Amino acid sequence: MRGMMMDRPLRVADILTYSEEMHAAAEVVSSTVEGGIHRESYAEMAVRSRKLAKALQAMGLGTGDRVATLAWNGFRHMELYFGIPGVGAVCHTLNPRLSPEQLTYIVGHAGDRVLFLDLTFVPLAEKLQPQFPDDLRYVILTDAANMPETSLPNAHCYEDMLAAQDDDLEWPDFEESTAAGLCYTSGTTGVPKGALYTHRALVLHALLVGVSMRNSLSMGKRLMPVVPLFHANAWGTAHAAPLTGTSLIMPGPRLDGPSIWELMESEKVFAAWGVPTVWLGLMEEIRKRGRKPSELGELVIGGSAAATSLIQGFEDLGVSVCHAWGMTEMSPIGTLGILSPEQMSLPAEERLRLKSTQGRRAFMVDLKIVDERGDRQPHDGSSTGELFVRGPTVVSGYFSNQEASESAIDDEGWFGTGDVASISREGFLNITDRSKDLIKSGGEWISSLDVENLAMAHPHIANCAVIAVPHPKWEERPVLIAVPAVDEPDPDDIRTHLEGQLAKWQMPDDIVFVDDLPLTATGKVSKLALRKTYADYKLPA
Ligand code: AMP
Repeated sequence: MRGMMMDRPLRVADILTYSEEMHAAAEVVSSTVEGGIHRESYAEMAVRSRKLAKALQAMGLGTGDRVATLAWNGFRHMELYFGIPGVGAVCHTLNPRLSPEQLTYIVGHAGDRVLFLDLTFVPLAEKLQPQFPDDLRYVILTDAANMPETSLPNAHCYEDMLAAQDDDLEWPDFEESTAAGLCYTSGTTGVPKGALYTHRALVLHALLVGVSMRNSLSMGKRLMPVVPLFHANAWGTAHAAPLTGTSLIMPGPRLDGPSIWELMESEKVFAAWGVPTVWLGLMEEIRKRGRKPSELGELVIGGSAAATSLIQGFEDLGVSVCHAWGMTEMSPIGTLGILSPEQMSLPAEERLRLKSTQGRRAFMVDLKIVDERGDRQPHDGSSTGELFVRGPTVVSGYFSNQEASESAIDDEGWFGTGDVASISREGFLNITDRSKDLIKSGGEWISSLDVENLAMAHPHIANCAVIAVPHPKWEERPVLIAVPAVDEPDPDDIRTHLEGQLAKWQMPDDIVFVDDLPLTATGKVSKLALRKTYADYKLPA
């Protein structure tokens, strides 16, 4: 028997309308690219998002059109987050840290029709424009006074575009399975792959984050997402903050320790979310100044494993740390390090041990671990295997990539994360390794296989593997382990060979020559064995 409730679709724009009505005075405070602080209430953000929506419609954009953004965390990026999906189009966030080749591939593959970009990225877009589609249109996220001279064809000014519109708009209706957002993530091999979020998934994810993270997200709280809007919905804060009436403090392009400390202090930030590298920078600043920003009370650390020492450092300052795990493909939150009252009253050491795990699953996220033979492993805290996830906020495949889609989902309909983990009886997830050939440095991916392929093209290398070794600031850095093809290969020669083809931060920090590489039973290079051998490797200073 079917239930009898209204079949209203879940739409991203409804979050905006709700915040306009219920949290009108909560604000988005932005450290702007042009300089200075900009303030806008959620009521103002809603009006401007409707103007943007009308401008998009005037450009002929609507359901299914991909509209790209290349921007820092700021109020205009937030307006794009609502205005674009509001008209049924797809908000496609581009990660400016990707290589030029990846960016041009992604813009072409997504079929972007317009690119909205911050002033910072005008030179980058000018450089890539000849490789971008001919009919791509450009809108610069600034006002007339700051419009730059640019070679970008017919570049529009964002503020002029909004000024030409009124906000008399009813958000259109469409099915909740309509695509709302697109975010590409690095593949282990080959090209980046697009996670295509639906309205339904984003609204459910906002609820999931809002319900789980009430300490960060509630009326009157002030939250700084240092995690970029171009990284999977800034971990859901972009939607959950307006929904819950939490003010957002946006750091713009200034992500160094001193800038973050100052903005936290002047804007009375209570909660902040970001990758470990950012918090190491903040901790350094705290040590220099001898105190934390006055109101700072909660840090959410994710994107890479948070070291126990980092968690302890902040907890000792009275800042509660929540260690979170997730993926772009999961909208992205999967697990959160929130302890029950009983767990909070455990001895400090035990509490810290629990906080150092990746936490427990969020509502609507199912977890299973599976061994090499495909057998499910018990959640007993010691059995490990590949982690699979399932739920309404998890991708069912990748945008326009059948091959990657097919290999992403197992026979039971679960998504394979490429992370190796155990799960305790109480549900704490512990990531122990990674089966995917990727290195995460400062929150950004480096494909080991890409670097290996380039290195193998050098005539003095017979075989090689690129692995991650621990790094105090960047969490992981790549090291090239190579079997030479000649007697005395010159590492500088190999570096020069790689330099032209990799972004600077993707270059191996060291090259180690070995006689042979460890192999698995199937004859592949055993990265697991190599990572063990080099677990304590000290990089050259
Ligand atoms: P991304 O899609 O870029 O957000 O990357 C997701 C991947 O980052 C996961 O599959 C993990 O490999 C890694 N990751 C994210 N959060 C954590 C964490 N808290 N601890 C360890 N690895 C993490």
